Amino acid sequence: MSDKRILEVRNLKKYFPIQKGVFRRVVGHVRAVDGIDFYIKEGECVGLVGESGCGKTTAGRSLIRLLDPTEGEVLFAPHDKTVDMAALDKHGLKQMRQDMQYIFQDPFASLNPRMTVGRIVSEPMKIQSIGTHKERTLRAGELLEKVGLSASQMGRFPHEFSGGQRQRIGIARSLSLNPRFVICDEPVSALDVSVQAQVLNLLKDLQDEFDLTYMFVAHDLSVVEHISDRIMVMYLGRIVEIASASELYETPKHPYTEALLKAIPIADPKLGKRRIALEGSVPDPANPPEGCNFSTRCAYATELCRKDDPTLQTVENSDERVAACHYVNELELTGFTVRE
Ligand code: SF4
Repeated sequence: MSDKRILEVRNLKKYFPIQKGVFRRVVGHVRAVDGIDFYIKEGECVGLVGESGCGKTTAGRSLIRLLDPTEGEVLFAPHDKTVDMAALDKHGLKQMRQDMQYIFQDPFASLNPRMTVGRIVSEPMKIQSIGTHKERTLRAGELLEKVGLSASQMGRFPHEFSGGQRQRIGIARSLSLNPRFVICDEPVSALDVSVQAQVLNLLKDLQDEFDLTYMFVAHDLSVVEHISDRIMVMYLGRIVEIASASELYETPKHPYTEALLKAIPIADPKLGKRRIALEGSVPDPANPPEGCNFSTRCAYATELCRKDDPTLQTVENSDERVAACHYVNELELTGFTVRE
């Protein structure tokens, strides 16, 4: 991994208007992503974790402009030049998508059922006018082999494959343009537990082989533990903690991270049932709580938390660790390695 930042996101926001009445008057906004800042180094895998509805998928889609951000910068430097993805026109976007790709969550919905697998994998090259038909077909066959399928399966249709195999086809498609950066949007959450580990291992192997940088979106911390170098925890449209994977698991600094760690299932009957740490659901992003966003569910909330909104601050004795909590350097939170 190098020190070069391949991606730097500054104050990224994505608001969706709430419209009412016959004239579709805008009466408010859902703040799905509410001003996030982070960077990803070349060769890194950075996890983005949070419950459903916390804005992580919207954030991922805003980076690659499947959704247009409301505000902010997405500075992307796959080679020597840096471009702001958020400000690119259609032509510029088409060019940059060669270097930034997206793996969708649902392998059942993301593959065109009327296209053969060979066409699905070679389609991005055709759109970018890369190579001849023969060269594209050859490359599609190579990619299918790389993801553990066979070039001889190119004439088949998506419905002839299992869920895990379809996700492999989606992965092959995302690699067809030789990207530098791939956003993996919950790539294993729709799969059987038995095949999740295989697909995670495949992604890790491909990262090493093709020098890829990943942002890995997931809704629970157990999935990202082994694949991520650093992890960002998101809650109600904001990033509340960023740390290396080991630090985050051992010594969480935000109560929401601690709660997510407590929700990780343990396959050991001797340890008994773990306390359910998170009660209630994520508040409505159109109407977030006063003060700290997490104060309605936080076991440590005080009057200060209900009044003042904490910003991300550096954790004591660590240059790269940040957390958004008034008591970041005071609370002694429980990590995953510390059993109850
Ligand atoms: Fe909990 Fe207060 Fe920290 Fe928010 S600021 S996470 S409510 S302790």
